[in-house]
Amino acid sequence: MAGKGLRERLAAGPVICAEGYLFEIERRGYLQAGAFVPEAVLDHPEVVEQLHRDFVHAGSDVVEAFTYYAHREKLRLIGREAQLEDMNRQALRIGKRVADESGTLFAGDICNTNVYDPADAASQRATRAMFEEQVGWAAEAGVDFIVAETFSHAAEAKMALEAIKSAKLPAVVTMAIHRAPVTRDGMTPEDCCKMLADAGADVVGLNCIRGPRTMLPLIERIVAAVGVPVAALPVPYRTSEKEPTFQSLRDPNCDCLPSEMPFPVALDPMTCNRFEMAEFAKAAYALGARYLGVCCGAMPHHIRSVAEALGRKPPASRYSADMSKHAFFGTDRTLKPKNQAYSREL
Ligand SMILES: [Zn+2]
Repeated sequence: MAGKGLRERLAAGPVICAEGYLFEIERRGYLQAGAFVPEAVLDHPEVVEQLHRDFVHAGSDVVEAFTYYAHREKLRLIGREAQLEDMNRQALRIGKRVADESGTLFAGDICNTNVYDPADAASQRATRAMFEEQVGWAAEAGVDFIVAETFSHAAEAKMALEAIKSAKLPAVVTMAIHRAPVTRDGMTPEDCCKMLADAGADVVGLNCIRGPRTMLPLIERIVAAVGVPVAALPVPYRTSEKEPTFQSLRDPNCDCLPSEMPFPVALDPMTCNRFEMAEFAKAAYALGARYLGVCCGAMPHHIRSVAEALGRKPPASRYSADMSKHAFFGTDRTLKPKNQAYSREL
């Protein structure tokens, strides 16, 4: 599929997109939880480049430039606003390098601004300007399309879409749905996605916040409501009806958390395993979703599972588990029977 654009690839089959760079680079020790600004782009570019490679190796069809939260409001918050353009251009340079060498799609990325206020016209002007500057840098870097993600307000997502359409680029727009199954401005996910599709989005759907179990029912309704490919990129956490989002998850087995909330850095025990993410990918595909991935919390083995569940064999599949050669649990005829017999004692 190298050389083909987003629309052509979607016409030929599902597209896989790894997200969740903030969480994974935080775990690797190069980014601070809390402010969650992609400072690693400037301070440790080799770490960002390696993670792009890891995700592509695991089956991602898209290299998403790490410009999530590389926007004016976030950089102001940490006192690095003067480096806004450098951070964006560097993230785009890194992403393009990996996309070019691997024949994957190269995507720009914009997201919730945290300044947008439906009751404040000045905040809306600021929001639009933030989108326009980031989209402009992405367009100059030669992206194949732009992801606009993690919006809680339908109207903010529409503004992001308008900025992308003004740059004449394809747009993937995904909403973040919190505990209440509606946007913060009161639209159902399906009505919001239909509005975005009607306004020209090439792909619409959901990302982040909800795990597979609490995102899939919403995806089904979106697929029924729109005529464009639908995106589903949950967080890899075991959310439930009672705790539908990763912020609402609690961990009754741990009493040493700094607050009652394991979000964002102590969600490990609630992490979906690779089999659960494979089940998610099969279920989302069966419901009709065609742009699949994993958001905050994603690790390369999750992406490989999604890819394999869709019938792919990415380079990382060479190392997919094969327990037949395990010293104790294996079945290989050259293994020591004494160890195999001892396996029940392990
Ligand atoms: Zn996320």
